[in-house]
Amino acid sequence: MFSSKIKCSHCNKEIESTDKIAIIVEAGELNGITNLKSWAKNHKILCLQCNDTK
Ligand SMILES: [Zn+2]
Repeated sequence: MFSSKIKCSHCNKEIESTDKIAIIVEAGELNGITNLKSWAKNHKILCLQCNDTK
């Protein structure tokens, strides 16, 4: 079975459904997005800890 878990691109932590995340994306890419979850996997995702630590 293919995992549907999203992971942080920085620390590889699995994102829980209660976690808040940041997706690094160019605004223009948001046009025409129909399946946000599968789309998000192709982009850089940061958990809150990594997003706070610059
Ligand atoms: Zn992280």
